Amino acid sequence: MDAVDEELRPRDRAARAEEARQTAARLHAEGAGGVLLTWVDNAGVTRVKGVPTLRLEHAAAWGVGASPVFDVFLVDDSATSGRFLGGPVGDLRLLPDLDRAVPLAAQPGWAWAPVDRYDQDGTPHPGCQRLFARRMAERARARGLELRCAFEVEWVAALAGAPDEDPVPPVPGAAYGMDRVIGLSDCLRDLLRALDEQGVAVHQLHPEYAAGQYELSVAAEDPVAAADTCVLVRQTVRAVSARHGLRVSFAPAVEAGRVGNGGHLHLSPWRDGANLCHGGPGPYGLTAEGEAFLAGVLAELPALTAVGAPGPASPLRLVPDRWAGAYRCWGRENREAALRLVTGSAGEEAEAANAEVKCFDGSANPYLAVGAVIAAGLAGADAGLTLPPEVRGDPAAPPEPGSGPAPERLPQTAAEALARFEDSAVLREAMGEVLHDTFRAVRQAEARLFAGAAPDQVAAATRWRY
Ligand code: GLU
Ligand code: MG
Repeated sequence: MDAVDEELRPRDRAARAEEARQTAARLHAEGAGGVLLTWVDNAGVTRVKGVPTLRLEHAAAWGVGASPVFDVFLVDDSATSGRFLGGPVGDLRLLPDLDRAVPLAAQPGWAWAPVDRYDQDGTPHPGCQRLFARRMAERARARGLELRCAFEVEWVAALAGAPDEDPVPPVPGAAYGMDRVIGLSDCLRDLLRALDEQGVAVHQLHPEYAAGQYELSVAAEDPVAAADTCVLVRQTVRAVSARHGLRVSFAPAVEAGRVGNGGHLHLSPWRDGANLCHGGPGPYGLTAEGEAFLAGVLAELPALTAVGAPGPASPLRLVPDRWAGAYRCWGRENREAALRLVTGSAGEEAEAANAEVKCFDGSANPYLAVGAVIAAGLAGADAGLTLPPEVRGDPAAPPEPGSGPAPERLPQTAAEALARFEDSAVLREAMGEVLHDTFRAVRQAEARLFAGAAPDQVAAATRWRY
């Protein structure tokens, strides 16, 4: 175990129990009779175990049992197996992160906390996605880097009660149109209220392009907190919407051939309290270290696509002209570039400058997504990479003379994304062989599951799964 792994060991059992006693008293006083403990699997599905609030102390001290087979679950709830994980035998311990425990405003009587997963002897489970994100954040911290991250959440709302195969938008209206907000005024107000009560710092809420589609963005946080917030926001959107007779989909492609749901990741590396995307000699003020970090992300983007856009329907979304970031290139405020550089408005740059990974979507496990991006960025920083020339226009257009080769399309099939993932020495090393192999096995099995299926069938089979 290196120093970083040592950080991931759970704190002393008695200290955990004492903290949980206090947390349980707080949650109980706020009316929560039960706590929902969530993790996100390799298929991108949020799974849960609940405990009565009075049992939280035991859960924090000893963990809640869960089978490791969840690591090889597919999007349709069938299971595959990898070289290390699969089958009916074994037990893991879910340890709640009590710092994140919060009553759920749209599920009165319930609270929520994310979990890390450990083996029964207290060893960090090598397949735990949240521990992977923590390990990568610690790796960055060990070299003086802090990452600030935020996921944008996009979703499509539809009338509940309509047949599964038939998403009916709750209100008609124009893309980004005020009529879309008026039609869902109470629901969207309740959403903002609920998130506020849960301590989520919302930056913006708006109707998106596709029918019934909305988007919410939040303040940047440390990488694990950003992934936790992504989970909390999604479950809050779902719960508030259900109270208003709606169901929601975060799927990459709700309907084939239409604009899908992105899960864009904003991030900026910081050192000693200074944003490395600002105030340097590189393009648009990038520092050398900031540029190298982003160049590392760009270098690994085809492999990262397998992690950040992993669903069977992801290739249906990742196409040109949808602002989904289908091309491996970067550009300032270029919404067709997979890596969009955001410099911020004049006067706000030092705080606001960041990069947005646009090719990621709503089927991603957010913990894997942040962990993999940090791994790629650190590899770029180690190698002192520099960015290739910027793409200033539509990456699909023929390149201007002298501006270098046309940018590469990101993987267009699950098989291609998987091949690039397997080729990535950076992700293989960072994830470790158990997580790497198990994630690969899930991708392979999902590809088999949908081999030969028409786009409509893939969208229909996965639309209500995320
Ligand atoms: N819905 C688009 C996507 O699939 C993104 C639109 C936007 O730029 O926010 O990623
Ligand atoms: Mg959007």
